Amino acid sequence: MDFSRVELADDDRAFFDEARSFLATHVTDEVRRRDRETGDNFDEGVHLALGAAGYLEKEWKPSSDGGFSRVQRRIWELEKRRVHVPWVTWGTTSMVARSVEKFGKPELVADVMPKVFSGHVRLCLGYTEPEGGSDIATCKTRAVRDGDSWVINGSKMFTTGAHKCQYVFLITNTDPEARKHKSLTMFLVPLDLPGIEIQGIRTVDGDRTNIVYYSDVRVDDKYRLGDVNGGWTVLREPLNVEHGAVAAAPDGLQDNSIMMHQAGFMATALDKAVVRLAQPDPNGHRPIDDKSVAYRLGRSFARIEAALSASSIFGRVANAQTMRDISPELMDLHGAAAALPFGADGAADDGSAEYSYRFAPLVGIYGGTLEVFRNMIAQHVLGLGKPSYAPPAAKVS
Ligand SMILES: Cc1cc2nc3c(=O)[nH]c(=O)nc-3n(C[C@H](O)[C@H](O)[C@H](O)COP(=O)(O)OP(=O)(O)OC[C@H]3O[C@@H](n4cnc5c(N)ncnc54)[C@H](O)[C@@H]3O)c2cc1C
Repeated sequence: MDFSRVELADDDRAFFDEARSFLATHVTDEVRRRDRETGDNFDEGVHLALGAAGYLEKEWKPSSDGGFSRVQRRIWELEKRRVHVPWVTWGTTSMVARSVEKFGKPELVADVMPKVFSGHVRLCLGYTEPEGGSDIATCKTRAVRDGDSWVINGSKMFTTGAHKCQYVFLITNTDPEARKHKSLTMFLVPLDLPGIEIQGIRTVDGDRTNIVYYSDVRVDDKYRLGDVNGGWTVLREPLNVEHGAVAAAPDGLQDNSIMMHQAGFMATALDKAVVRLAQPDPNGHRPIDDKSVAYRLGRSFARIEAALSASSIFGRVANAQTMRDISPELMDLHGAAAALPFGADGAADDGSAEYSYRFAPLVGIYGGTLEVFRNMIAQHVLGLGKPSYAPPAAKVS
C-alpha cells in the first residue's frame, strides 16, 4: 500500500512526511549501491542514524510503551521497504533482543538494550551448523562449565551479519547424554572474544554470510540466557517468529506473511517485464500482443497475487515457491539480455528478473527450507501425522 494516497489523520500525515524525508536523506543511491556490492544487507551509517533519531526503539517497543502506533508502524515498515533500507541485521537484532529482555540477567539487559536502541549493538543468529541446520536441536557446539565461566568449542554455518554484529545468539550443547531438546543452553556471546574466527561466504545472489569458528572461547556465565539445558524454552519464541508462525493482525495493518520484502523483488520484476514487453519494436510489433506472452504474464500476475494474499506459513511457502517459478519465466520472456545483472549495459530490465532468479532459491532455504515447511503444514495443519524417514520394515514371511 502507498500511504501517500490514503486519507490520514493530521499526526499520521505529519509522521508519513517525516519518515519519507528522513529515509530519503539517509538511504541514498550510494547506500543501495554499496549494499549490492558488499552483500551485507546492513549499513552502519543508516543504522546509527535510525538509532539516534529514536526509530529503532519506537519500532521495537509496543505503542503502550512509547513505540509507534499501529498506523505509524505500518507506514514506517512500508516506507522502509519502498526505499530498500538494508534490513537483515536489524531483523535478527530485534528478534534476539526480545529473548535478551526476557531471559537475560538484569545487568546484561541494562548493558545491551540501550545500545540496541542506539544502534551501537547488533545481534545475529548462531543456530545452523556445518553438518545440518534444519533440525537445530541436534547442536554439536559444546559449552562446558568451568567455574564462573563456560568454554565453547564448535562451528556455526551461515551466521549472517556476524561481521557487523557485537553479539551472537548462540545455541550450545551442554549435555550430550540428554535427549536433544533437554541438552541445549543459549548464550549471548560477545563476538570480540579470543578464539572466535569469522570467515565470509558469498551466496549465489551476492549476499554475504559467514562461517564462525569457536575454539576454547571463554564466556562469563552472565552471558547465559535462561536455564542450563533450558535453551529450547529460550529459542522457541524467536524460532516461531522466524518461521512466520505468528497470528494475523485483525486490523490488517501487518504483512500477511513473512518474506513480503523478498516477494517485493519478484513483483517489481513482473511490473518491469510488463512495461518492457508492451513496448513496440521499430516495426510496431509488441511482444505482449503475442498471445503466449500475454498468457504467461497473466499467469504470473495471478500466481503472485495468490502468493501475496496467502497468510502465515502458507504465505511463506507460496512466496518462495512462486518466486522460484516465475523468475525463470520472466527471464525467458525477456530473452538473452535478461542474463545481464543489475547495472550492466544492455540488461533487459536493469537485472530485476535475473536478481529475483538468483535470490529465489535462498528465500526457500533460510529460516527453514520449503520442504521442512511443507512437512510442518502436512503434520500440524492437515493432521497427516509425523513423517517417517525410516526405510519400510521388511516383510516377515
Ligand atoms: C543466505 C542464508 C542466510 C542464512 N542465515 C542464517 C543465520 O543468520 N543464522 C543461522 O543459524 N542460519 C542461517 N542460515 C541457515 C538456514 O537456516 C539453513 O540453511 C536452513 O535451515 C537449512 O539447513 P541446512 O542448510 O543445514 O540444510 P539441511 O538441514 O542439511 O537440509 C538438507 C536438505 O534436506 C532437506 N530436509 C532436511 N530436514 C527435512 C525434513 N524434516 N523434511 C523434509 N526435508 C528435509 C532440506 O529441505 C534440504 O533440502 C542461512 C542460510 C542461508 C542460505
